[in-house]
Amino acid sequence: MTISSFVPPHRTLMGPGPSDIYPQVLQALSRPTIGHLDPLFIGMMDELKALLKYAFQTENEFTIAVSAPGSAGMETCFVNLVEPGDKVIVCRNGVFGERMRENVVRCGGEAIVVDDEWGAPVSVSKVEQAIAEHPDAKILAFVHAETSTGALTDAKALGALAKQYNMLSIVDAVTSLGGVPLLVDEWQLDAVYSGSQKCLSCVPGLSPVTLSPAAIEVIKSRQAPIQSWFLDQSLVLGYWSGEGKRSYHHTAPVNSLYALHESLVLLKNEGLENAWQRHKDMHMLLREGLENLGLSFVVEEQSRLPQLNAVYLPEGVDDAAVRSQLLEEYNLEIGAGLGALAGKAWRIGLMGYGARRENVALCLKALETVLK
Ligand SMILES: *Cc1c(COP(=O)(O)O)cnc(C)c1O
Repeated sequence: MTISSFVPPHRTLMGPGPSDIYPQVLQALSRPTIGHLDPLFIGMMDELKALLKYAFQTENEFTIAVSAPGSAGMETCFVNLVEPGDKVIVCRNGVFGERMRENVVRCGGEAIVVDDEWGAPVSVSKVEQAIAEHPDAKILAFVHAETSTGALTDAKALGALAKQYNMLSIVDAVTSLGGVPLLVDEWQLDAVYSGSQKCLSCVPGLSPVTLSPAAIEVIKSRQAPIQSWFLDQSLVLGYWSGEGKRSYHHTAPVNSLYALHESLVLLKNEGLENAWQRHKDMHMLLREGLENLGLSFVVEEQSRLPQLNAVYLPEGVDDAAVRSQLLEEYNLEIGAGLGALAGKAWRIGLMGYGARRENVALCLKALETVLK
């Protein structure tokens, strides 16, 4: 067997992530690798922190990128904040809420699950009732943008509820960051994690995380040591801060961080509000076309994510056959249904660089042809 270079085709990525990557981001990725403790690299990391603060709309001093994908950002929040015996209210309206529950249990915590239908947002009143029944709960955990269903939850209302009852919040913003409004400080959210490969249109493998001063306090006053060495944020902090005299924790993914820096510069130049509006506009365009093809949305209009459009398969259509035809004939990837929606829905992503007219037009034309 001879193995030579791997040269992937140019696909248009309109699934649940990774999304189409900005050409400028791929260019940034191929710039020369320098040492991760090089003064120039440290300067770049400081800029990266400032750019992440802008994206998250926060002044939190602790705003970094974990050197691993979104799932590691999720785990970072849980292993640092949950101690054995802690009660955590976990909202579950799709795949990622269930993963949060699993994280709580693995940290030795007790998960109080608030279930909502797949495709529905988290019910704020159900959460309030759960808090009333468990006044000793320490943390409220929920997914802002449920990528498995396309539902957007009211993070502002849940953040306010957590504060009202003196709880911390852990928020999954993997798909929401850069795609829909997310105001970490104004909404009083404590531990928020995201991913590089969704609406930031950067390469996969990095997880932006921000922790509020209240969350940092809780970490500092822990009784039990943090079970994960790699994700122990009190150690990572020494690496991401410390005014020029940084200590070695792990080798930063140097080139991936150039890429994240570039994608955040692009977001800043566009402006967050403009980026949110672009996602909305492209969603409206796609929606019109999908409805003209007779497809209907899984999520009610008021809770729909513009960046993740889940639609039911038409009667008698072979899910896998359609998706492979799109891939082979149009180099177009759309997402399959996940969990309760497997085989029943498609998930069409309009994330970051992918949220543009050419993509909407290609997707509608390809679907129309293939479905005929
Ligand atoms: C994609 C995603 C994750 C996981 O991110 P990975 O980078 O795949 O580990 C977590 N939560 C949500 C809501 C996601 O969409």
